[in-house]
Amino acid sequence: MTDFDSAGLGPYSGDAPASQALFDRAQAIVPGGVNSPVRAFRAVGGTPRFMVGGEGCWLTDADGRRYVDLVCSWGPLILGHAHPDVVDAITAAAAHGTSFGTPTPGEVALGEEIVARTPVEQVRLVNSGTEATMSALRLARGFTGRSKVVKFAGCYHGHVDALLAAAGSGVATLALPDTPGVTGAAAGETIVLPYNDVDAVEKAFAEHGSSIAAIITEAAAGNMGVVAPRDGFNGKLAAIAHRHGALLILDEVMTGFRVSRSGWSGLDPVDADLWTFGKVMGGGLPAAAFGGRAEIMGQLAPAGPVYQAGTLSGNPLACAAGLATLRLATPEVYARLDATATTIAKLSTDALTAAGVSHVLSTAGSMFSIFFTSGDVADYDQARTQNVAAFKGFFHEMLSRGVYLPPSAYEAWFVSTAIDDEALSVIAAALPHAARAAAVAV
Ligand SMILES: *Cc1c(COP(=O)(O)O)cnc(C)c1O
Repeated sequence: MTDFDSAGLGPYSGDAPASQALFDRAQAIVPGGVNSPVRAFRAVGGTPRFMVGGEGCWLTDADGRRYVDLVCSWGPLILGHAHPDVVDAITAAAAHGTSFGTPTPGEVALGEEIVARTPVEQVRLVNSGTEATMSALRLARGFTGRSKVVKFAGCYHGHVDALLAAAGSGVATLALPDTPGVTGAAAGETIVLPYNDVDAVEKAFAEHGSSIAAIITEAAAGNMGVVAPRDGFNGKLAAIAHRHGALLILDEVMTGFRVSRSGWSGLDPVDADLWTFGKVMGGGLPAAAFGGRAEIMGQLAPAGPVYQAGTLSGNPLACAAGLATLRLATPEVYARLDATATTIAKLSTDALTAAGVSHVLSTAGSMFSIFFTSGDVADYDQARTQNVAAFKGFFHEMLSRGVYLPPSAYEAWFVSTAIDDEALSVIAAALPHAARAAAVAV
């Protein structure tokens, strides 16, 4: 028996009548009831909460319950919900018209801010992280005249066909589609290797080096839970790629402007060729980007022959939200994100330790997650040793006590500067109960 049961709330039934009613309507007209799969709670069971409002670090659901938000829209909201300056910037932009299909001043300003903060010399704005990685990959192939790409198991780069590939039977063999709908041809140009394994990369290049256009890697992995690159791993990727005439694409869609004023590159600078950004740079609206050396970016249409375009790219509202967010993201903001993440991580691991639950706290800057396992986690196979049932119990107990965690054991926890003492005390009060629920589930 967990406290959850004694409170009369079954962990997987949920007690969220308004959310349930909305979910019933949604399921009739939207596949699975959601517009992006992980929102559906399938990994944890129960009814996904339909949120109707966000203010600072608080979310309010359709039943009027409030939660401390440790998802932050999956990363973008480093300042919390509805920051007044961001809302003002969006409102002011909207009053001048929402889209023109022409160049606008806001995209110049946002582009300049990105170039000033990161290693990229030129940047192209797009609407989602998926578009950014898809376009960066096309550009790398166009620039090098090569077809193959190396990616790492457990790294997610959006739902790009070539990057929804699963490892074939041996290291350095070409990949198989990871979902129906991706053709063998699209996945067959991809080589999927274990994360943090330099030898595997050397072997793949020994075999296929002259036809590899690029290595793409999350700057620090955050989509199998948080798994930081081992010391020097990203730098070695750059060196191997360059030795063979290939490019390194650092995917900073999650880390960019979150873990430092530039991203992971600010903590661990390496000589990459292309970078992708998204999430934080849109301030909660759809904006993303890819950029890199001017010599490579100059190959993009209309300057060069590699085609890439977008009706709403550089949208004035998204640029205003992104620019307002980045301008507020000072060194003090990053110091506060680091401190808050450290505090919540420590509260969590202390509670789990007290309850006797085996776990690993895994961090990359202010991103962190907890793996319910006892061994090291440096790659996807090790991440998958965790006890998912323990996470389910933990998640639902936190949810019922007002803390909204990512509804999957394989996701980063995200903090915002809006987390205050009241929110920390809600988290601290919930954790011992959640830890005991995890212990029961083990
Ligand atoms: C979220 C994410 C993407 C995809 O971005 P979308 O905006 O969801 O398309 C790509 N790469 C990484 C590392 C991400 O975390």
